[in-house]
Amino acid sequence: MNSCSICDLPVLELDGQFENLEPYYAEPEHPAAALAGECHSTCIASHAYGRIWFEWKVRNYSTIRGYRIALEQDDWCVLVHKRHPEFLAFHASGFSVGGDRPSRHGKESVINDGLLVPIDEEFNLRLNDVDIVATVKAGLKEQGRYSILSMLSMLGIADRIKWPQALNNAAFVFDKKLQRDWGSTDLAMRARYHKFLPALVVPFWKSLNPGVA
Ligand SMILES: [Zn+2]
Repeated sequence: MNSCSICDLPVLELDGQFENLEPYYAEPEHPAAALAGECHSTCIASHAYGRIWFEWKVRNYSTIRGYRIALEQDDWCVLVHKRHPEFLAFHASGFSVGGDRPSRHGKESVINDGLLVPIDEEFNLRLNDVDIVATVKAGLKEQGRYSILSMLSMLGIADRIKWPQALNNAAFVFDKKLQRDWGSTDLAMRARYHKFLPALVVPFWKSLNPGVA
């Protein structure tokens, strides 16, 4: 498990909750380049260099990675891939949301300022704390699931959550096929949760997913 390049606490790689600040986005001599790495979305959003990373990412994606700028509004910049059904939306404070084809698990739900999109993905985790690993395993074996919010609390990062509604009822779910990858420091399971898309980007999501309400 990686540590946040800003606060040094663990990062759980849930879609919509973390950012990858790739070194190749950065101007190497700029002091903001020192933040390169994985970080919590909330950490970059409240960091003075968030806007610098926003500018670097928009520049990188729109010039050499095949995206074009489709919308700039309300501190958001939405980029759409020129050939693939994918979009990325970068917020000027440094965090982002993205979309491609949806999982078919669960339903989208409309909330007042956007859309909660269901995610159901394989989730592999290595961490040095054998007690935490044992606790999650016991929950998966006995109840078939383990609360992702409880996991975030055990890791000391419950206050790093971006878009809290996206993680209501979020859970790791037991999958017998993945149990073979378990070890004293290794977990493998499914993760079911939501990612939040603000209203401004919902039309882009719908254009990728015709037929979704
Ligand atoms: Zn952090």
